[in-house]
Amino acid sequence: MRQIYLDHVSAMPIDPRVLAFAKRYVTNDFGNPSSLHSAGLTAKRAIEDARQRVAELINAEDETCIIFTSGATESNNMAIKGTALRNIRKGKRVAASAIEHISVLNPAKELQKSGFELTLIPVDQAGIVDIGKLADILTEDTTVTSIMYANNEIGTIEPIEAIGEIVHEKGLYLHVDATAAAGRIPIDVQNDGIDLLTMSSNDMYGPQGGGALYIKPGVKLQPILPGGGQERGLRSGTENLFAIAGMGEAARIAKDEMGPESERLKGMRDQLIDEISKIEESYLTGHPTQRLPHHASFRFSRIEGESILLNMDMYNIQVATGSACTSRTLEPSHVLLAVGLKHEEAHGSMVMTLGRSNNAGELPIITKAVKETVQRLRILTPM
Ligand code: PMP
Repeated sequence: MRQIYLDHVSAMPIDPRVLAFAKRYVTNDFGNPSSLHSAGLTAKRAIEDARQRVAELINAEDETCIIFTSGATESNNMAIKGTALRNIRKGKRVAASAIEHISVLNPAKELQKSGFELTLIPVDQAGIVDIGKLADILTEDTTVTSIMYANNEIGTIEPIEAIGEIVHEKGLYLHVDATAAAGRIPIDVQNDGIDLLTMSSNDMYGPQGGGALYIKPGVKLQPILPGGGQERGLRSGTENLFAIAGMGEAARIAKDEMGPESERLKGMRDQLIDEISKIEESYLTGHPTQRLPHHASFRFSRIEGESILLNMDMYNIQVATGSACTSRTLEPSHVLLAVGLKHEEAHGSMVMTLGRSNNAGELPIITKAVKETVQRLRILTPM
């Protein structure tokens, strides 16, 4: 049985072109970018090229706005804690939408333990941030407000430009976690009024262990990883040359190919949504149209997401249920609870995320497997 991988939101293969491009940085050109000899200078040049390419993907003012990190979790921690701690004189309040990834919510909760106030911003049933409530909730002492570009579990894309206007009228900085969106939909940090933006290398077919944080010129942060002073003193530690060079090439390819590829995946996504929605007591989660082009997420009543995932795996089709990062707990997803689902409704979730390896010929195989899975599990479960 051929594998049909539909869990690109959890992990992605490295693009063969990225691997071919970046391989030399772990074989021949492996120098330390801080070394003054020629090997060091070659490495430094590779990092600066990658910085330029990542900056171009999101229309940053220039390449100095990009800081490389070990991934989205580190970028989110750096953005939330770094700004809150550095701007403490302006206020001790941070805000985040209720559907943020735990790598945003947990650093915010850690700040709470050391005396900061945390404001959670509600979302509607489709997962869209309530703009009216945002304007009421934010106060002048809110130093950082974190709203994701698009949600990884339900695919909903937030109206970031409108959110940016409100945040800047009221608070100080807008941080946007674009892990699920970067490389999939166009992002323009200048047009959207974004102060800090998180990106992940692997989420755009780059190597694992790489990420970046965009920091708008003038935004003040305290380093959360002090040491040798690499990355403008904001992120110490010898650079992960392979991941950084690879992320740069992945960003270049994403920028070039995003338009047609997103259209192709959107067509497949909509067919999946049409077919799977025909199953009795199945519901699309997230926004019906304002959603990521590769993202189709559902919930089914009376069955468990974990059973769906394991049953689909027997067809050699890999899907997700909620976030891979929280799959070790049996708690229902905080995202599905925040969009108003009851505990028992939030348990039956299935998330499918398409990628470059998928093609339309797979659609009948996928929908047949889902229909059989749901039917089988409903007979088996006493719920
Ligand atoms: N933010 C979002 C929206 C995510 O989906 C993820 C997980 N892919 C992260 C942050 C954290 O990413 P990582 O575990 O690679 O640091």
